Amino acid sequence: MLHSIASAIVVVGAGQAGFQVAASLRLEGHTGAITLIGDEAGLPYQRPPLSKAYMLGKLEADALAFRPQKFFDEHAITTVHGHASAIDRTNRSVALKDGSHVGYDHLVLATGAHNRELPVPGAELDGVFGLRTLADADRVTQRLRSARNVIVCGAGFIGLEFAAVARALGCTVHVLELADRPMARVVSAETSTCFREAHEAQGVRFDFGQGLSHIEGHEGRVAGVVTTQGNALPADLVMFGIGVLPNVYIAAEAGLDIDNGIKVDGDLLTSDPSISAIGDCASFPSRHAGRRTRIESVQNAADQARCVATRLAGKPPQPYSALPWFWSDQGELRLQIAGLSHGTDATVVVGDRVGRQFSVLCFRDDHLIAVESINKTGDHMAARKVLARRPALTPRDAAVDGFDLRGFEAASR
Ligand SMILES: Cc1cc2nc3c(=O)[nH]c(=O)nc-3n(C[C@H](O)[C@H](O)[C@H](O)COP(=O)(O)OP(=O)(O)OC[C@H]3O[C@@H](n4cnc5c(N)ncnc54)[C@H](O)[C@@H]3O)c2cc1C
Repeated sequence: MLHSIASAIVVVGAGQAGFQVAASLRLEGHTGAITLIGDEAGLPYQRPPLSKAYMLGKLEADALAFRPQKFFDEHAITTVHGHASAIDRTNRSVALKDGSHVGYDHLVLATGAHNRELPVPGAELDGVFGLRTLADADRVTQRLRSARNVIVCGAGFIGLEFAAVARALGCTVHVLELADRPMARVVSAETSTCFREAHEAQGVRFDFGQGLSHIEGHEGRVAGVVTTQGNALPADLVMFGIGVLPNVYIAAEAGLDIDNGIKVDGDLLTSDPSISAIGDCASFPSRHAGRRTRIESVQNAADQARCVATRLAGKPPQPYSALPWFWSDQGELRLQIAGLSHGTDATVVVGDRVGRQFSVLCFRDDHLIAVESINKTGDHMAARKVLARRPALTPRDAAVDGFDLRGFEAASR
């Protein structure tokens, strides 16, 4: 569906996806009004450094902003600080918590996600933190200055990035994880082993197959934890990173279809053709996953935003089909993933496993579906090109002595 160039576009959520759709709309030549509504204080900012350089004190808060205020003024993007509490689809208007209303011709929902709560007694104690926002990061960073014993609940990306930071700042760090290896949901066993060993070499301790039973406090502050296996551990800071849930409330209240996120079609349109949804909050039919999925990454948020901006600027709609990619920095290790490894039935490791510079090629039914690169950015960039072309590459081809992903990419152009 093409939209008039001068239509008024309202974006709810001023995070990665919301900022990008507003900026890309102007780049694509949209001349109508753009209103970006966000409920966090300050300018739209990037989240990835929060659990990395920012918490280590290597980056100032100002450097997190996507663009300075001048950019929004020059591009006539109206930023509204407030929480959108309801959508009136009949009159095409968004209600804000402060009682004001903003009318739209097209609405883009970019509401992101929120942390899953820690469902254990003691979770309300002072010293228990999740990490999603700049305000969270500031609270945690402040507490890290005096913390000695840190418990991390969940060995996913955020938990492990935080574990590396806390260890680098001199804390003892103990990671509890219900699965039997780190990042088990999203990476191969080879990659898990590499990261476990690297963290352990820095002094991080892991307990797999157990989570938190409860947190103990003293005068309202965290004093220790007890694991599901009954082990008591000292703690003055507990960080939980146990996944996120999509922010679907206003979409659901407005009667839009929901399916593990705001349900969109291949063009990222919701069940109302005047409303799109993008980023962490949207569940979409993925060519790469072979099913409907929701992806929490900068790439996904930014590429979905560009896809919607192109359509809303009146250009022919292109179904969303960008290759998913992701990164995570943990101490000395940079993990970069291209593709989705769900359903992997064979893996081939290429490179220097001992020196922690290698890639894991993940196959399903004899087809390459994902590549996990550890300290191998060249491989990652080649993998993105190779996967986008859907090459004929089997595990047997990749296991041949001297196989090199960059060479293969160049030869298969
Ligand atoms: C600590 C951390 C580290 C990360 N590291 C990486 C990384 O290394 N690599 C990577 O690819 N990804 C990383 N991510 C994930 C990445 O940041 C997210 O996938 C991305 O921010 C999603 O963008 P989004 O715009 O969909 O959601 P968000 O960035 O969450 O933005 C949504 C915004 O909408 C606001 N909002 C929600 N509801 C309303 C409402 N009703 N009214 C007004 N405003 C509303 C929210 O407050 C928020 O500001 C990290 C995330 C975190 C938290």
